[in-house]
Amino acid sequence: MIPVEPFRPDVAVFREVKPADRLPELEPADRSRESGRGRPGSVGSESIALSRCDNVSNQSPTDIMRLALVEAQSAADAGDVPIGAIIVHDPTGNIIGRGRNRREIDNDPTAHAEIIALRDAAARLGSWRLLDCTMYVTLEPCPMCAGAIVAARLPRVVYGCDDPKAGAVRTLYKICEDPRLNHCVAVTPNVCAEECAEMLRAFFRVQRTLGKK
Ligand SMILES: [Zn+2]
Repeated sequence: MIPVEPFRPDVAVFREVKPADRLPELEPADRSRESGRGRPGSVGSESIALSRCDNVSNQSPTDIMRLALVEAQSAADAGDVPIGAIIVHDPTGNIIGRGRNRREIDNDPTAHAEIIALRDAAARLGSWRLLDCTMYVTLEPCPMCAGAIVAARLPRVVYGCDDPKAGAVRTLYKICEDPRLNHCVAVTPNVCAEECAEMLRAFFRVQRTLGKK
């Protein structure tokens, strides 16, 4: 495992929420259960009720990618390929979405980290349009996830390492920047690329010794 410092926000920038509109605390294993559950309310800092006080206003893209790597390590610990995603609401700096690959644990071919993070963020915003948000994901998104990122109207995606076998943002396809589609997403590649790639390599090394993959 790559040593990653646990994130300890110095400043909690979120409003006090009444118990009635506080999102329930969920264990990581239950996070995907949140998917698809929208919340009423307008998009904006005042409407975002965070159950976790994570704010990354003063963090660099590298620091935020390391939070995505924490999610990725959680996936590996559960036996899934280590891929993690974080969605930041840029005007407030609040983390509003987290996801880790859950394909094996959920037996769900669509349970990629990005999809879970998108659903988490949309539920918290009460809107499927993730305007003013940035996704940080450890591996270049696949065609399904790149399509979902476009559909969510995300303005920007930042990713770790390229995926030569399924990368649909830059490597095999350029879905996020295809001018024929109704929305274009700005792409920043290669943030913590070596750390992200090494986590994947380490996972597959162990899997091979166990004769699993
Ligand atoms: Zn994907």
